[in-house]
Amino acid sequence: MSPRLAAVLAAVPFALAACTTGAAQQATTASGMPAVPPTPVPASPSDVPSSLRPTAEESASPSASATVDPHAKVIYLTFDDGPWVPYTQQILDVLDKYDATATFFVVGEMVAQHHDLIRKIHAAGHAIGNHTYDHANLTTLPDDRIRWELRKTARQVGPDLAACMRPPYGATNEHIRRITRSEGYKTVLWTDWAVDWDQPPVPELVGYLEDATYDKANILLHDGGGDRPNTVAAVREMLPRWIKKGYTFQALPECLTPHTA
Ligand SMILES: [Zn+2]
Repeated sequence: MSPRLAAVLAAVPFALAACTTGAAQQATTASGMPAVPPTPVPASPSDVPSSLRPTAEESASPSASATVDPHAKVIYLTFDDGPWVPYTQQILDVLDKYDATATFFVVGEMVAQHHDLIRKIHAAGHAIGNHTYDHANLTTLPDDRIRWELRKTARQVGPDLAACMRPPYGATNEHIRRITRSEGYKTVLWTDWAVDWDQPPVPELVGYLEDATYDKANILLHDGGGDRPNTVAAVREMLPRWIKKGYTFQALPECLTPHTA
């Protein structure tokens, strides 16, 4: 086991704590729903069972091939759990400085408090995906509540929402995929992460991002759910390095289509 993987494994309990003390906790307060027990986060992207990975059908995107240079090297930066003050704006500023496009998987109850940030994310050309209304573990919920999570978030985001969703904690299964598909969403997980929920020192975060430097990497980061200054700093440090290596930054292909359901 590599030292880095060992660090990831050690960090998993903190990841769960971060996820459950951030948007999720605020959500349970706001909605009056019982607290949702966290689902173990996969120890590494390669440990994500094949059943949790996007299917070929979900990954295919005709609109993406029409707009993306097939020879360009691309990194998909994704930011979950926002919008969040002040980090969403700071991420937007960094992305703007380097002309980088990303995907934001937003939590509906945070959107309700920060519609201005949603408008800024959309105006800057980034994609906005559904991350449920209160950061729910969908595997613990009845079908009608799963639909409620998606629809209530969609109502908050409005027409700027893309037809993609990322289940909190990566917790999904075929049954949930069927439901989300019937609600008009492609499910998107990630290929890499930087353990940024635990906010390790910036050099360590940068190390994770260096490891995630390859064509079509889909990197899980967070602009919300807690304090994220080190995430902002690490992205600020990595963007010029990636650009020097010939990478461009685009919204996830699965998120290029507007949500219409
Ligand atoms: Zn999340």
